[in-house]
Amino acid sequence: MPPGEFALIDRWFRPLDGRAGQGRPDVVLGIGDDAALLQPPAGQWLVAALDTLVEGRHFPPGSEPRSIGHRALAVNLSDLAAMGATPAWALLGLTLPANTDDWLQAFAEGLGTLAARHGVALVGGDTTGGPLTLSVQVLGFVPPGLALRRDGGRPGDLVCVSGQPGEAALGLRLLQHEATLSGAGTAAQRQQLRRRFEYPEPRLALGLALRGVASACIDVSDGLAADAAKLARASGCGLELKAEALPLSAAMGDVAGRAVALQAVLGGGDDYELCFTLPPAREPELATLAAQAGCALSVIGQLTADPALRLLEQGKPRSAPWQGFDHFAAERSE
Ligand code: ADP
Ligand code: MG
Repeated sequence: MPPGEFALIDRWFRPLDGRAGQGRPDVVLGIGDDAALLQPPAGQWLVAALDTLVEGRHFPPGSEPRSIGHRALAVNLSDLAAMGATPAWALLGLTLPANTDDWLQAFAEGLGTLAARHGVALVGGDTTGGPLTLSVQVLGFVPPGLALRRDGGRPGDLVCVSGQPGEAALGLRLLQHEATLSGAGTAAQRQQLRRRFEYPEPRLALGLALRGVASACIDVSDGLAADAAKLARASGCGLELKAEALPLSAAMGDVAGRAVALQAVLGGGDDYELCFTLPPAREPELATLAAQAGCALSVIGQLTADPALRLLEQGKPRSAPWQGFDHFAAERSE
């Protein structure tokens, strides 16, 4: 390991490994040895997930390093939220073109602030030179049998979504092509959309509240229609979504117009909201769940015994991006 690499890890990442006030006595040995030593809680299941972000593919070239650090961890915590897990530890595979102190400081702040907020310790990783790529592995826990899976939905279950899907996709579009959407909406609204892409909030509190309540759950990373369809397929069901029931924020409507905004709700990725199913008898619990989770919850349709995927607008079938077609794909710098 070159000396510069050791100094980099020691300066920017070792402070995040749980010993420096992050209060994780389950980190027996953090950053600095060949591997970390971790003490999982007795009787819990270990939940593991890993997601990679590549510059130019998952975020625009030259993005703010603080946002990159936040998103690298947030997209992974979102996977744990979707499983109903409590996060504990993370590992970071960092490939970066140059050792730039300013960049690393902001990156570590973005990642470290989110980690601290959720009590996550960064216990190890790997650092190499190359095109900017972030791989984060997260580990967490769930009581045996209480994990939220994609395959537990039943025909008739209500399909629900948290927060406002689609804002992040419009935010990305603003970050890349401000002019294409800048016809309307206030500066504050455009800022709200950009921030939803740059700083998504993993719905960990919702995931916990849904344990033993939701029949199935998935996080929305590829677009609401595509991810709801994945959940339906995994549950052996079809799906019927109602266009009138989709949430649509004032910011989305004002900045993009209703038609583009609706397409973003259904097809825009990068939201990291949770899409889950609920036995119909539990619908009255939604208000309490929303309060526990600190976010809005919308019922947008239901699972069906018929395997078809349908979007209805005023009772009429409409097309929807069920395949994870990204409406803005042509504008990404791939
Ligand atoms: P080795 O060559 O023995 O694998 P490394 O140089 O890869 O050692 O890493 C030294 C220590 O620094 C290990 O504890 C490793 O987990 C940690 N580490 C390396 N890169 C990172 C990183 N990007 N984030 C967090 N910890 C890291
Ligand atoms: Mg190593």
